[in-house]
Amino acid sequence: MAGRRGPGPVGRGVTAFLVAASLSVVCVGEVPRPPACAPARGELTVEDLPAGSSVLDCFAVGRVVTHEGAGVAVPEPGTTVSVDALTADGSAHGFSLTVAADGTVSYAYEEAHAAAAARARADAPAPCADGAYSTAGRKEYGTYEWFIGDGPLPGRLSRAEGRRAFEDAIATITTSRNDCGYDDTVAAKARFLSTTGNEAGIDRAARCARRDGLSVWDAGDIGGEAVATTCSWSRPVPDGPEELLEADVRFNTHDFPFTNRPSGGCTHAYDIRSVATHEAGHVFGLGHSGAGHENLTMYANSFACSTDARTLGKGDVLGLRSLY
Ligand SMILES: [Zn+2]
Repeated sequence: MAGRRGPGPVGRGVTAFLVAASLSVVCVGEVPRPPACAPARGELTVEDLPAGSSVLDCFAVGRVVTHEGAGVAVPEPGTTVSVDALTADGSAHGFSLTVAADGTVSYAYEEAHAAAAARARADAPAPCADGAYSTAGRKEYGTYEWFIGDGPLPGRLSRAEGRRAFEDAIATITTSRNDCGYDDTVAAKARFLSTTGNEAGIDRAARCARRDGLSVWDAGDIGGEAVATTCSWSRPVPDGPEELLEADVRFNTHDFPFTNRPSGGCTHAYDIRSVATHEAGHVFGLGHSGAGHENLTMYANSFACSTDARTLGKGDVLGLRSLY
């Protein structure tokens, strides 16, 4: 069965990619000219701002760079930004853009998982029998302090209900909640701070905007494909995963219905806590588990009316253990 992977290959793939990218910069260093600068106007593609080019030479900080439908605003030097979309059809798209302290750009791409690869969940390994995971190369070293936006919440939850649902979901990650018998090794903590007038830094095309310093969970219109999206910003740490600086989560209440209690009458609403747990996984550094791993919380598709992703599977826990 194609797509079956053991623990960790995607994480290693990302590491390998980053090493390759930095090596390639060193290699082309014999030609002392950086890649050509981006066009002066409009959105950029990753080809316009290739790995090895300088955001400073190109005046690219704050401009949007897109890749296969995903996009991020170029962050300040010394920062990585990552976008992770949870789609309705299992077509994962996400990537990371790193701007080194000297302004040099590099990228890490999520493996493309075609929607066609999504199989029946019955064909995928059971959650406690599936050790697949990937990580994003970043983690929360201390306490993730987060806010709730002051606009409407998914499922028309009250502010108090929304806080409770999101707190539960985040706690599932910080306590490794699972039915597979694994102990919790996650040292990171989380703390809800307050409601805020600030918004999640995620635009109407599910692209990461410039960060505002507050980690905000809210709801809105992020385009027709993504059920929810997480944008994360981090900075390098010597000899370790990058340190999370901020992570924002937005639910797409414009295009998808949500419920806090899927019942027998549920036909197509998404379980708020399941989606929130998946997004919280991204916040704390997990990537997608990939095609063939449909029963893990970090699979890139959310299944309507299912509450299964509220609890972690083996691969989700092993991913956390690789970081914490
Ligand atoms: Zn995701």
